[in-house]
Amino acid sequence: MSRKLIVVGGIAAGLSAASKAKRLIHDLEVTVYEKSGFASTGACGLPYLAGGTVPRARDLLSLTIEDLGDKRGISVLTEHEVTEVNPKEKIVRVRETQSGKELTDTYDYLVLATGASPIRPALRNLGADGVFFLRTLEDGISLRKAVEKGAKRAVILGGGMIGLETAEQLSEAGLEVILVESMPRLMPMLEADYSEIIRQELTQHGVAVLPGERAEEILEKNGKVSGLRLCNGKELQADIILISTGVTPNTSLARQCGLALGVRDSIAVDSSMRTSIPSIWACGDCVQSYHMITGQPCWMPSGTTANKQGRTAGSDIGGESAVFRGVLGTQVTKIFGLYAAMTGLNLEKALEAGFDATSVSIVKGDKASYYPGSIDSHVTFVFERKGGRLLGAQVLGGISAAGRCNTLVAAISAEMTIAEINSLDFAYSPSVAPVYDPILIAAAQAGRQVL
Ligand code: FAD
Repeated sequence: MSRKLIVVGGIAAGLSAASKAKRLIHDLEVTVYEKSGFASTGACGLPYLAGGTVPRARDLLSLTIEDLGDKRGISVLTEHEVTEVNPKEKIVRVRETQSGKELTDTYDYLVLATGASPIRPALRNLGADGVFFLRTLEDGISLRKAVEKGAKRAVILGGGMIGLETAEQLSEAGLEVILVESMPRLMPMLEADYSEIIRQELTQHGVAVLPGERAEEILEKNGKVSGLRLCNGKELQADIILISTGVTPNTSLARQCGLALGVRDSIAVDSSMRTSIPSIWACGDCVQSYHMITGQPCWMPSGTTANKQGRTAGSDIGGESAVFRGVLGTQVTKIFGLYAAMTGLNLEKALEAGFDATSVSIVKGDKASYYPGSIDSHVTFVFERKGGRLLGAQVLGGISAAGRCNTLVAAISAEMTIAEINSLDFAYSPSVAPVYDPILIAAAQAGRQVL
């Protein structure tokens, strides 16, 4: 008799796990339960759907449910919420969200890929028409509709990547945008100078930035958003309020069935994505990871990590040994013409983790100085004083920032020292890089401080 895999959650991690396991065990019966109305959504594209850069919601679906069935042999049931797991009997209870009908299903293998949800701040009138979160395709469609209906003013609460990307997109769609951030500066994990460059890029494009401000109350008239009152008493007018103040892992099922939890109550897993209960794997934004530099457990949700962890879980179920090595917290984002990328530890985190670390920052054009269109590339290295092992990097500038950051990801993963980085044989041509790449300039500067 064929064995059964049930996956809870039909986005990045869940579908990666389902696809990989099915490829390895051909007669595996795979059912994915997804509580929202869509599966296989590219959530990372939601800001671009909201602003209209991505024209249609369906462009964000990597695979249709039919494709998943016909091409991959995976049965995906949307609008089906798993409400209970009984690990002893290997049974799940499922509720059809539209009809409320209940059913049960049995499994040999269970994967929890329940993701994360936006944090809902304790603000009055959070349910008013015109308040948005951005996580599901439904959220993206609703925000896009509000823009198309002629919203004129948007307030975005939270200056993380989702807030920044959506600020760019709504501004380009013609809205007046105000970004409110409770921290004293945007993206505080970056160098202070870099936060300031990001703020300037936003203001130059007409986005007002209010750092160090907290929201007190959402203002509404007849159930519809009219503005936001800040704790300093100032009132901002708005037709749209986007709340992007962070996410929290969805672990109510994990809790209910008794799985061990870890950092920020994410699900504790081993490097094969096995949980504390046999026959249950977990992957993606709902699980704890390990930091590749500190070796400590951490919770750093991201789309690339979710895909890889899903594939690892699927491999393990299929009997192919696979290991998820951990995360460096690599991120990149675009804010109008500026790209900000980072990986590994910033200086504060490196010192906190007990490293005898220091940092250098340089600025260098990203093309030959005489070649038109060169953009300043800002590079920061965080490294160990003794021996010079690279622990983290930040790159800010044109689109080449992402490539430079990824090069440094490879360097950190290979535990390269500043001296080794300084001798890398980078490509050079005036139109694409200066003869001494910004990475080499940073390495040369850092080298002077290595003991
Ligand atoms: P999710 O995408 O959260 O999917 C989990 C699914 O499980 C959900 O659809 C949920 O409905 C379902 N579910 C939960 N509980 C149940 C249940 N009980 N029964 C049935 N179904 C259930 N990452 C990057 O790396 N780069 C980016 O540029 C980037 N940009 C982003 C932009 C936005 C606007 C957002 C929201 C996220 C972005 N991310 C980015 C993060 C990335 O999208 C997530 O890390 C990724 O989607 C995580 O995938 P996941 O499958 O673990 O979880």
